[in-house]
Amino acid sequence: MSELLDELDAWLDANWDPELTVAEWWQRLGSSGWAAPALPTNAYGKGLARNDAIAVGQRIVARGAVAAPGGLGMLLAAPTIAVHGTQEQIDRYVLPIVTGQQAWCQLFSEPGAGSDLAGLGCKALKDGDEWIVNGQKVWTSGGQIADMGMLIARTNPEALKHQGITWFACDMHQPGVDIRPLREMTGRALFNEVFLSDARVPDDATIGGLNNGWAVANTTLMFERSGLGAGGHSAAAAANAGTVAGDLPKRVGDFVRPSGPSGGGGSGGAMAASAVKMFTHMAKESGAIAQPTVRQDLMKLHTLHEVGRMLALRLKAEKAAGRDIAGAPNIAKLSMSEIMRQSRDLGLRLAGAGGMLHAYNTADRKALDDATGQPMLAYITEMGLFAQAPPIYGGTDQVQRNILGERALGLPKEPNNDRTMSWAQLPKNG
Ligand SMILES: Cc1cc2nc3c(=O)[nH]c(=O)nc-3n(C[C@H](O)[C@H](O)[C@H](O)COP(=O)(O)OP(=O)(O)OC[C@H]3O[C@@H](n4cnc5c(N)ncnc54)[C@H](O)[C@@H]3O)c2cc1C
Repeated sequence: MSELLDELDAWLDANWDPELTVAEWWQRLGSSGWAAPALPTNAYGKGLARNDAIAVGQRIVARGAVAAPGGLGMLLAAPTIAVHGTQEQIDRYVLPIVTGQQAWCQLFSEPGAGSDLAGLGCKALKDGDEWIVNGQKVWTSGGQIADMGMLIARTNPEALKHQGITWFACDMHQPGVDIRPLREMTGRALFNEVFLSDARVPDDATIGGLNNGWAVANTTLMFERSGLGAGGHSAAAAANAGTVAGDLPKRVGDFVRPSGPSGGGGSGGAMAASAVKMFTHMAKESGAIAQPTVRQDLMKLHTLHEVGRMLALRLKAEKAAGRDIAGAPNIAKLSMSEIMRQSRDLGLRLAGAGGMLHAYNTADRKALDDATGQPMLAYITEMGLFAQAPPIYGGTDQVQRNILGERALGLPKEPNNDRTMSWAQLPKNG
């Protein structure tokens, strides 16, 4: 590991320059393999284990450079395409992701297909060397700033439910894609409804083969669960990727920032680690640390974070030995949900009555900080309101438990007709 970090340090010494634009810096970082080092070497990575890749990301920030681009392209699309795409598709889609040129969103959930994702009804019909897509997606995080979408659509309604789905790379900048933001209780509009009306996708944007989309989507979901789960502590991106809201033409030196609490975004592990530090500091300052139950809750949060970190290390060791831990990503995701709930409850307890005040934008944040003298209040209320989301996105807590029950414990599946009737014949939600 130290050799790897020495190599990185030498590379940073030769390449980091705050006078570059964000685009120029990410071009260097992405094409060298340091932006997404967990990706394989043929997909602009270095083939590192997840923990080592996280250490690389942290080192880049610790050395005063700007972190790699973030977002769902890095978290989900790039690793999925690296697994299932052809080399030509990897070059076409992964390079613009790791260099921050393109931002991606995930077009999976639909109004009638969330937990039961394989029941999705968005249809793609072949038209020459293109597919024509019609349907509705919902809860599409970052859809309004995305250049590309990970689209799963039904390409054979007459096949069994899980067998007639295809995973496409869909261009979001086209007339057939209508994106409507949805406002959340945090005040932000993180996600969107996306209406696809005769949207077009070229046939060579099919990733992983026709009607094989369920297997490809499961790869995406596996990366989502392990990426969002407890145990990680990656550096949150300081600059935005993509052509819509990206910071690409700006001076990269203006985005250098110390690591610290980063609001509702960032990796789960990063939030958990910074929350424990922040709450301990707050409890000491206010004297609440004298209360035994506050100390217990702090220890519980710290313990959850440590158990998650150790699970990630154990998984790394098992993988290095050619083995796996069944259900590890699901356990990590469940653990993250619990960490978020604990953080919400402890944070709001420490904030006291001030926790009822919330800043809905940057200007309000400043006003709130000045009025209360509690600079972390906006972060705590943001986390308190956002804590409801992690137990839902990437598969709800109940769904994670179902998967663990069936795949790790070998319990029987819920009864259904999925293997005897085609999707077209099955009863539909809503
Ligand atoms: C902040 C946020 C961001 C998101 N971003 C995206 C995104 O970018 N792209 C995307 O495609 N989706 C996204 N989602 C959607 C998310 O994946 C779905 O909300 C989730 O899968 C649940 O689906 P649903 O909302 O349709 O709820 P439903 O599936 O209708 O579930 C409702 C309730 O029933 C329970 N339930 C359902 N089935 C079972 C079962 N078999 N056993 C036990 N309990 C069950 C659920 O656990 C839940 O409590 C996001 C969601 C959130 C909250």
